[in-house]
Amino acid sequence: MYKFSVFFLLLVIFFITACSDKVETIQNNASSSTSMEVFRWKMVTTWPSNFPIFQEGAERFADEVRVMSNGRLNINVYAGGELVPALQVFDAVSQGTVEMGHGSPYYWAGTIPEAQFFSSVPFGMTAKGMNAWLYNGGGLLLWQQIYEPFNLMVFPMGNTGVQMGGWFKKKINSLNDIKGLRMRIPGLGGKVFKEAGGNTVLMAGSEIYTALERGAIDATEWVSPFHDLRLGLDRTARYYYYPGWHEPGTVFELMINKSKWELLPEDLQKIVEVAAGAVSEWIYAQMEFHNQQALAVLREKENVEILKFPDDLLLKLKLLTKKTLDEEAATLMNEKNNPRFKQVYDAYESFRSNYSNWNKLSDEAYQKSLELK
Ligand code: CA
Repeated sequence: MYKFSVFFLLLVIFFITACSDKVETIQNNASSSTSMEVFRWKMVTTWPSNFPIFQEGAERFADEVRVMSNGRLNINVYAGGELVPALQVFDAVSQGTVEMGHGSPYYWAGTIPEAQFFSSVPFGMTAKGMNAWLYNGGGLLLWQQIYEPFNLMVFPMGNTGVQMGGWFKKKINSLNDIKGLRMRIPGLGGKVFKEAGGNTVLMAGSEIYTALERGAIDATEWVSPFHDLRLGLDRTARYYYYPGWHEPGTVFELMINKSKWELLPEDLQKIVEVAAGAVSEWIYAQMEFHNQQALAVLREKENVEILKFPDDLLLKLKLLTKKTLDEEAATLMNEKNNPRFKQVYDAYESFRSNYSNWNKLSDEAYQKSLELK
């Protein structure tokens, strides 16, 4: 018993000594000028102020970085229009007017058409597949290479989950009902919709409600039940269609001016990277949580009918998506001397087709088993 107590005492002394050595080392490091430097950065976003989940996510990121860095990296967050207009976020970060930005890559399609593959592709991968591709399948490295000439570093920071197909004033039974239909639908989905004979309208989120209510457009997509309900879209059109074939899981991005990024000590860079990953998951979980609640509210509304797009329409839109992407790749290559769209398209497709083999055996088969009666 005595022998054991002595041994235990020695063990305790050993640990105390080992720990105090460690504490000293940390203090020594902390006293060096580089690691004590305080960075005051600005982040601009593409979202309206107080926009739930999206803007909240950017603010949450700044809070987490401040706490984890013990106040060494302080980021002030500005909503779209507060410091720079929403659609100038990319340029502001690229030029170093501000250090960081939060948005989604498809907003920059005019400058970098291939960025759309890191955002959302019609009939493409959902959040799970996108995460697998970005973090492990070379997607993020490719994305960072594509942004590098713009002096930008980038990390994923959020995913909307599968969106809804949108609000329609009349029922959609076939491709014929799409012909001439004026719909607000952005990005690659908008291009496919146009290819299907629709009349694609581009419009900022703030204008959607009035445009649909007054009949300037016949249909619109926005996000999913939570954000759509908040915007009051249930008061503008009766038919709420699913699934959101055009946006099966839109990825958000944290953009960082690369010259500024390189000035950060390694530990602050790691804090930024890890916080972006955590907020990415937080945004996705928030979307899934609030959407199931909002859907329950919408189901109770007598002026709303929730309908699934007919299968044959979805099949036609899927075939038109391939045609649209192939044509876009060829046009950019031949007329705009841009081989990168095709390069990213090929990388995306190659991963997606392998992933879909696994997805069929896992998620898809499991989901089908839940429908058995
Ligand atoms: Ca959308």
